[in-house]
Amino acid sequence: TRHRDVHRLYDVLDAAAQEAPEAPALSVDGTTWTFQELRARTDALSAHLSGRCSPGARVALLAHNRLEYVAAYYGVPRDGRILVPLNQRLHPREWADQVVRSGAELVVGEPDLLERLEREGGLPAGHPPLVDVADLPWDGPAPSREDDRDPAEVAWLMFTSGTTGRPKGVRLTHRSLLAGVAVTASGRPVLPDDVFCTPFPLCHVAGYQVILHHLFRRHAVVLRRFDPAVLVDAARRHGVTNLSLAPTMLEDLLAHLDGDPAALGALRATVRVVAYGSAPMPVPLLRRADAVLGCDLNQGYGMTELSGNATFLSPADHRAAVAARPELAASAGRPGDGAEIAVVGEDGAPLPPGEQGEVVVRGAQVADGYWDDPEATAEAFAGGWFRTGDAGRVDGDGRLYLADRIKDVIITGGENVSSREVEDVLRTVPGVGEVAVVGLPDPRWGQSVCAVIVPDGVPPREEDLVAACRARLAGFKAPRRVEFVAALPRTGTGKVRKAALRAELTGRPS
Ligand code: ATP
Ligand code: MG
Repeated sequence: TRHRDVHRLYDVLDAAAQEAPEAPALSVDGTTWTFQELRARTDALSAHLSGRCSPGARVALLAHNRLEYVAAYYGVPRDGRILVPLNQRLHPREWADQVVRSGAELVVGEPDLLERLEREGGLPAGHPPLVDVADLPWDGPAPSREDDRDPAEVAWLMFTSGTTGRPKGVRLTHRSLLAGVAVTASGRPVLPDDVFCTPFPLCHVAGYQVILHHLFRRHAVVLRRFDPAVLVDAARRHGVTNLSLAPTMLEDLLAHLDGDPAALGALRATVRVVAYGSAPMPVPLLRRADAVLGCDLNQGYGMTELSGNATFLSPADHRAAVAARPELAASAGRPGDGAEIAVVGEDGAPLPPGEQGEVVVRGAQVADGYWDDPEATAEAFAGGWFRTGDAGRVDGDGRLYLADRIKDVIITGGENVSSREVEDVLRTVPGVGEVAVVGLPDPRWGQSVCAVIVPDGVPPREEDLVAACRARLAGFKAPRRVEFVAALPRTGTGKVRKAALRAELTGRPS
């Protein structure tokens, strides 16, 4: 039987289940569902929700990575309802805020998380029911489908990571999500025997991007949580060819492999590509990954509002970077098919190659705007170009170089300082493990440069840090204040939460 065309998320699963019912679709920590099994669970969920929720209802999901998460990916929007994935790492008050803002009719979750939501979230009276995900009926007859549902419907309301402020709810449509997969497949070609694996949380587009290889009938292996030993084990067990990681996870993985040559051997036996993204990659880490893993590296740059990645630094560019063109290692690469990028000035006019401005992206992967926020939507989505909030430039070959989040650019004495540039220099100083550079309010300069450092062994001396900057950068870029901390505040996908860091350092709320 031929399947209908793929216009909606469920079509992906339905087509796979028709063509390869017995093929493995999804594994989480040792348990595998075939495409047929995944579709059966998805259908049962959808049938249950049809009897329980109104059309267009939002259904929030508060869980760690698990098999049913993916059934909810397909099943909640199968017949027009909207999935609201809540980030399990947020504070219960933030979950409650997102439950309220999304107007969820139902919150499905894992009992321990639901309990925290109820106890510490401060949910308003008359809040939606909280239901244990294990208590839902996971088998039952499939409801019939309405053929004429619009692919422009919102499928998921997914919140951004909240790295720069309060998380924004993004209206991801069936169309934008499917377009996002297509762009990624062009930037990261899929081979016939590929098996994809990720520890990324499924509440984030980075996790989603791995699952939707179902479009190509590929097996997705997901870890409940990131753990290098579990990752190596999963790779061995399932013959993983493509690993998808955040830079911080890659660093932890390399540290683990350092003491375990057998694990390294196992990984190298099957893994062909390590795909990374979601936060800037330190160049020394990139070189180490290349030397140790000896496989292809592929960087993706994207965001929630783009339903995934838009640009890719290819394996060939990585090889060139290691061999002869080190500057390429700092690039986020070129747009995938169907994505267009440009750099604009403050007035919104396009800038010529080489000039720094705001990165904007156009294409079918761009979301339908923010949830219930016409003002923010008008600001960021006007005219079909999405304003990313990231500063960068494009070189003559169309490669993107990211400088900083615009909100993280430091303005001191009227001069702009890219925190990333200063971080790259500080990282070369012995004794520097991790580093984040932020601007702090300064009565004289407006802002001043502050370096926050997680030492690696003996902490470096402040004067050595300043001297390293002065040797390579303009004097005003050198830090005026240095703080040593045990760990940087990070999101679940490895991004440094600089707004939180600034708040900590100044004692003000972010
Ligand atoms: P918020 O918008 O709420 O502040 P966020 O932007 O961190 O949170 P996401 O949509 O999860 O939420 O992340 C997208 C951002 O992550 C991008 O705008 C970019 O700044 C950063 N990012 C993604 N990929 C890369 C990459 N390859 N290199 C550097 N930064 C990246
Ligand atoms: Mg953002």
